Amino acid sequence: MDKARKLLIAGNWKMNKTVAEALDLVRSLQVELGLVKEVDIVVCPPFTALSEVSKAIMDSKSIRLGAQNMSEHNFGAHTGEICAGMLKEFSVRYVVLGHSERRQFQKESDGLINAKTKAALAASLKPIVCVGETLAERESNVTEIVVDTQVGGCLSGLTKEQMDEVIIAYEPVWAIGTGKTATSAQAQAVHSFIRQRIAALFDETVAKRVRILYGGSVKPANTRELMSQPDVDGALVGGASLEARSFSDIVKNSI
Ligand code: PEP
Repeated sequence: MDKARKLLIAGNWKMNKTVAEALDLVRSLQVELGLVKEVDIVVCPPFTALSEVSKAIMDSKSIRLGAQNMSEHNFGAHTGEICAGMLKEFSVRYVVLGHSERRQFQKESDGLINAKTKAALAASLKPIVCVGETLAERESNVTEIVVDTQVGGCLSGLTKEQMDEVIIAYEPVWAIGTGKTATSAQAQAVHSFIRQRIAALFDETVAKRVRILYGGSVKPANTRELMSQPDVDGALVGGASLEARSFSDIVKNSI
């Protein structure tokens, strides 16, 4: 696929996979995707599997490691938290921040996600910052207002140079894990809106460079259509990233 920006396909394994299962999956992905150069591929296992998955892909030319969350703090009395420096010990390069499940269940705010984004960048991790509206918000025609607030809040205070390392994931909440995918036209409309907002907040160059992933029931069958949209620069994949066959097919269908 001829795209303005290199596509990035990231698998968010969420709270799934024991270490043994994670190794099984990543070894199969290595076999399927080991030679892929056209697309950036990221897997985000649970924290408990980072160490072993990191070792398994140490020599991989194609698969990189991501985490699903991190603390905004660097150390200290934050029971149960994991900081950027700890992720770096396992050669983690990307970190998903502000996933809608964390916004909903852990009550993460744009301000907190902004602090985490800054902490990630300070540690040379690439944040994948998630935004997206709920079904009620879409039905009330406030999608753009919601997404604008999230983008502005999460990226507040970043420099243009820092924005080179930031990836945005547009994930309509109503499409996550529901089997309901946004149509390619719905995705393109919001992606284009986000890019315009980035241009207004930073500048045109930043807006042209930033990768905006789509997430929400991405499957092999809908990948090609979604990725063909000019402002869709990849996918954040939940359910379909848990099996080597479906995740590999998503990657292959995006090329
Ligand atoms: C996600 O959790 O980021 C996601 C997009 O999930 P799913 O692909 O299962 O909808």
